[in-house]
Amino acid sequence: MTGRRAFIHDALSCAGHIALATATLPLLSRRAWAAPRGARVVAEEPFARLEAVGDGVWALVSTPLSGDMTTVANGGIIAGRSGVLVIEGLMTVAGARWLGEQARQLTGRWPTHLVCTHYHSDHVNGLAGYAGGEGHVLTHLTAASRDLATRNTPPDPVRASALSTASLIDPAAPTTLDLGGRRVRLVPRLGHTASDVTIELDDPAVTFCGDLVWNAMFPNYVDARPSALATNVRALLRPGAVRYIPGHGPVAAASDVARYLDMLGEVEVAARDAVARGIASADAAKAFKFSSGIGEWAMFSPAFLPRAFEAWKRELAPGG
Ligand SMILES: [Zn+2]
Repeated sequence: MTGRRAFIHDALSCAGHIALATATLPLLSRRAWAAPRGARVVAEEPFARLEAVGDGVWALVSTPLSGDMTTVANGGIIAGRSGVLVIEGLMTVAGARWLGEQARQLTGRWPTHLVCTHYHSDHVNGLAGYAGGEGHVLTHLTAASRDLATRNTPPDPVRASALSTASLIDPAAPTTLDLGGRRVRLVPRLGHTASDVTIELDDPAVTFCGDLVWNAMFPNYVDARPSALATNVRALLRPGAVRYIPGHGPVAAASDVARYLDMLGEVEVAARDAVARGIASADAAKAFKFSSGIGEWAMFSPAFLPRAFEAWKRELAPGG
């Protein structure tokens, strides 16, 4: 299944299973999703909270396991003297408008720039919510993401215009966005999709990982190239006390990203074994158990685990 049908199928299957995922979410995972002690939460809604992660930098941590899908993906706000960047178009127009309003309250101005890390619906669907504020918001994304977003999201004239006038991020080398006294690196990567972008700051040391990193929630492999995913996650790690804002789940430290990599590694071992022994992905997923040290990973949808095995099969035995 490709294109629009796949998009609708995917969106519906996520929505359909969200109630189930919420009901079966273990207590531990619920705790893992709560704001950590000492976090400076500046705004909170049923669908998300906004945490200060440094001077002029805020992380949007979405909480879709509450059943409220206004934002779904994480995002953020980065303020400079001459511009304000928001990260992710989010799932709905209302969600993006909410983040735009938060940016205005916190920084005194409406967002001037938007970066979408990749084309999936929860990262681009709502981007029209940033239009209609004061001033123009320039959207940044790669050409590959723009083309897929244009093809896969339901038609909307405001979003279509934002995408067709977007500034295209170089897919081959990092670019710097100067917000006035604050330089932000946009780094092209891949693995979650064929074209992902991370947004990186040195001071404070913060990396917005897009969906290359998930924390306390099992990732969606729908477009993943699993070996490239692990390689690119390792490549985005930096020395020092960096805050990693995952695409989904609570704000992460390096130790959380290491645990995520261990988890991806366990899936890899099981998937390679299944492919070598000719076991169907659905059966391999059913038999699979994480080791006890790996912690709990909430499933956004029961389809996500077999999908991970299927992604490995695509890579290891294409056409097999
Ligand atoms: Zn996402």
